[in-house]
Amino acid sequence: MNLNAVTVPDIPLIESGDDLAEIICKRVALQDCDIVVVASTIVAKAEGRIVRLQDISPTKRAIAIADANESDSGFIQAVLDESVETLIESPFLLTKTRRGNICVNAGIDGSNVDGDGDHIILLPDDPDKSAKNMRADMLSITGKKVSVVITDTNGRAFRDGQIGVAIGVSGIRPTRDWRGTCDLFGDVLEVANEAIVDELASAANLLFGEGCDGTPVVVIRGLDLYAESDGIGSLYFPESDDVIRRTLLTAKDEK
Ligand code: GDP
Ligand code: MN
Ligand code: MN
Repeated sequence: MNLNAVTVPDIPLIESGDDLAEIICKRVALQDCDIVVVASTIVAKAEGRIVRLQDISPTKRAIAIADANESDSGFIQAVLDESVETLIESPFLLTKTRRGNICVNAGIDGSNVDGDGDHIILLPDDPDKSAKNMRADMLSITGKKVSVVITDTNGRAFRDGQIGVAIGVSGIRPTRDWRGTCDLFGDVLEVANEAIVDELASAANLLFGEGCDGTPVVVIRGLDLYAESDGIGSLYFPESDDVIRRTLLTAKDEK
């Protein structure tokens, strides 16, 4: 088996209103079944999701959390505004974003954005929709059926270090279900449901880098994963099945 992953060259600094599908398709000859992996930072930039800290009025709650976490109160307010639920408040903010991803600081940060440290980038408003639109645009520009995976760099529970994860997908199923198939010895697999879009996100993130590389788009070729399927929803546990979320909420209530 063989997998090919390449960065798309010469992507400019992205600004609000830029057409990412057009920018990408001009720089790479897409083929059917390609998986186009795009860092959420540039999707957010194209969607104008940049905010100035000085324009945010923090509430008392945001100021208190900022004091406890030695963070900026405007930044904390932005995180709270993008979140529907707080699972950990201190020493860092772990929240559930409006679109269901649970991550530190609602995926907001100030890296790779211009503006003297006063500008922060929110996640795209609806990453699944962004992926769906990009896939449709790429189909109409090139005639090729590709999958789109939008990523962010997230930390993990239990382990140091961050990796790329998928936060919006289109043209691919989030998981590859092995349940019901057999292992090497004929025993039926009962649990294995592989989070392939996260594996793809991590592979691409290896090539993106986190700093000044300027390579926010990777095309992965050689896998047969295209599907007329949209959305990452099935990757996020329904609340009733999310044992860790429930445990964190109980611990927070008891504080
Ligand atoms: P995130 O993981 O989505 O939060 O994005 P990062 O801030 O880690 O950036 C991922 C990659 O995208 C890095 O190689 C950055 O240098 C690059 N990047 C970020 N913004 C831009 C941009 O506007 N243009 C280009 N060409 N690269 C960018
Ligand atoms: Mn990020
Ligand atoms: Mn990153």
